[in-house]
Amino acid sequence: MESTRRTFLKQAATLSGACLVGFDGRETAEASVVPSAGSIPETATAGWYDRPMRWAQLSFVENDPGNYDLAFWLDYFKRIHADATILNAGGCVAFYPTEIPLHYRSKWLGTMDAFGDISSGCRKLGMNVVARTDPHACHHDVYDAHPDWLAVDENGNKRRHASDPDFWLTCALGPYNFEFMTAVHREIVSKYMVDGIFTNRWAGSGMCYCEHCQKNFRDFSGLELPRTSNPQDPSRRQYIVWHQQRLFELWLLWNGEIQKINPNASYIANAGGGALSELDMKTVGGLAPTLLADRQGRAGMMAPWASGKSAKEFRSTMGRKAIAGISSVGLEDKYRWKDSVQNGDEIRLWIADGIAQGFRPTFTKFNAKLFDRRWLPVIEEIFQWHYTNQDYFRNERSFARVGMIYSQQTAAFYGGPDAAAKVEDPTLGFYQALIEARIPFEMVHDHLLDSEHVDHFRTLILPNIAALSTEECRQIREFVERGGSVIATSETSLYDEWGVQRKDFGLASLFGASYAGSQEGPMLNSYLSLEKDPSSGQYHPLLSGFDDATRIINGVHKVHVTPVGESISPPLRVVPTYPDLPMEECFPRPVSTHDAGVFVRNVGRGRVVYFPWDVDRTFWEVLDVDHGKLLRNAVLWATNEPAPLSVEGKGVLDISIWEQKNSMTVHLVNLTNPMMMKGPLREVIPLSTQQVRIRAPEGRRVTKVRLLVAGNDVRYREDAGMIALEVPTIGVHEVIALDLAV
Ligand SMILES: [Zn+2]
Repeated sequence: MESTRRTFLKQAATLSGACLVGFDGRETAEASVVPSAGSIPETATAGWYDRPMRWAQLSFVENDPGNYDLAFWLDYFKRIHADATILNAGGCVAFYPTEIPLHYRSKWLGTMDAFGDISSGCRKLGMNVVARTDPHACHHDVYDAHPDWLAVDENGNKRRHASDPDFWLTCALGPYNFEFMTAVHREIVSKYMVDGIFTNRWAGSGMCYCEHCQKNFRDFSGLELPRTSNPQDPSRRQYIVWHQQRLFELWLLWNGEIQKINPNASYIANAGGGALSELDMKTVGGLAPTLLADRQGRAGMMAPWASGKSAKEFRSTMGRKAIAGISSVGLEDKYRWKDSVQNGDEIRLWIADGIAQGFRPTFTKFNAKLFDRRWLPVIEEIFQWHYTNQDYFRNERSFARVGMIYSQQTAAFYGGPDAAAKVEDPTLGFYQALIEARIPFEMVHDHLLDSEHVDHFRTLILPNIAALSTEECRQIREFVERGGSVIATSETSLYDEWGVQRKDFGLASLFGASYAGSQEGPMLNSYLSLEKDPSSGQYHPLLSGFDDATRIINGVHKVHVTPVGESISPPLRVVPTYPDLPMEECFPRPVSTHDAGVFVRNVGRGRVVYFPWDVDRTFWEVLDVDHGKLLRNAVLWATNEPAPLSVEGKGVLDISIWEQKNSMTVHLVNLTNPMMMKGPLREVIPLSTQQVRIRAPEGRRVTKVRLLVAGNDVRYREDAGMIALEVPTIGVHEVIALDLAV
């Protein structure tokens, strides 16, 4: 078994850089050595990683040793049934008697062993202990001894820490991490036999121009380090590849060194995320035995479903491996009030949404001395409830039939510095529309489009997934040939995996539309007219619920296309932009033809909807109800089957439907709140009755239905393969649990 693991790690170590970010043609053979998330050798996930259901992260600050109440924390961990912990050990500040030169000891440590004391206390409680390190900053003595270990800016200056002038920033890709931190990790595992090392801020603090980075990058690419963020610059493109490769080398190095000492331990990187995250999630999903998502809470404009979105993104490549969502007990804001305490309902909502979408809850607290204790009973209540019902949270699979693709290569090579606006906003818009439509769905990584990973979906959504390889386009076409449906928007497939524009969409034959060579936008004052099908005199189901509307607003950016092949007569036609000022000129001008506003097609047994404009991105920006309806109708028409779950009633809910070994669960998270798009919540607004219909699992008998938050059994009826019931009210969260006969 162990040799399988070693072979796997060796294979992973020899990956070419290019296949980490995109695979096509030549790279395919190399890419295939990375096992997909579904076929990881069992040894990679064996061990303790699936055991912890609840995590507690307590990170010491330098003056904690001798000044905090150890017994209090151990008692708290016990009361909340925390199964695992992440405790601060070293790197930036050591909290144990380290013998490694230049490993700075806390000035308050004296002859104590703060990390050793708390970790042995946690072990006595039966908890798994993971040591936290942070390599991103060092003291001036490191500067004096090894000036080459520090991060260097583009002008050649060593970089002082912006928050604390006593510290310097380190280079993540040079000897500080590869040599010094490797020694630190070896020492911690040897002394304490911890179950893992979790590193915070291990991937660097932006571009580094130190001598090691210059030389290593030159050796890799033959080029100088880039001075531009344009991903079409040859040096920047190579840098994106090299940077990832170097970080994965570091990951494998640390993991290997840890396992030489404790084969049951692993390196657990603070890494991962969605399209905007920097390390290829497919590779991360292959390497990580478990992962904690460092998405601590809301900041600025952010919907509470962002917590569940992280869970879906992590699961898309982690498969059934345990994933945990780290939640802050404090306010998350750029002003970094790290000792603050968040409103209890905001903590409840954030954690509930993560649990609903598959996270195991983790709280994080920096500073073991408590200035403000208001969060303690909130976490205690959530964790105790979670413990009482934990068998219902060991999910085996989701029944969602809709998958939304996200693409890191699109963000890196097409989006570049504008990735948030060009790549993430369309995703957020479509995500919001699916939430409002109460359609359960999953996120899908664009490097995992093989039948094993997508055939449990009926519909795949591509929200401006601009950069797709020839291979990925082929996989999507094959998905449709097998009976799947596809919804795509804007520039989807107009670029290859390196962000280089094609002459035509890679998916033109699916869309029924070819790129006409130009785009328009930002458009002001443009509309879409609603058109009946001339043959039937009826509106297409894409326009259902628009009642007596005859036109709706258009988006902001339009891709000019030419129809190819057979399509259904377009249900929407473009009313081109016309003057919006002076007001006297504000009337539509006659045009000879009105372009199609959407392409709707039957392709084999599948269905395809292509919007040649930014309906999803505009929805995120403007939130026009008509655009939300269009997106909902597109998914319903494309999916063309009874939903596995329907929830009817007032309000905005994030929903999910899961199977466990001997049960099924439906999560209903109440997002209905004036603070829905920007925390913190003021108060919870309870929802009125919801009518729920759940598709019963085939061949299994339901023996009991229970509401896990209300804490009572509910009456239900079985009706044509569906379980129907009423949920009388929902505060933050309700879970419907269906026990299945064994
Ligand atoms: Zn460097």
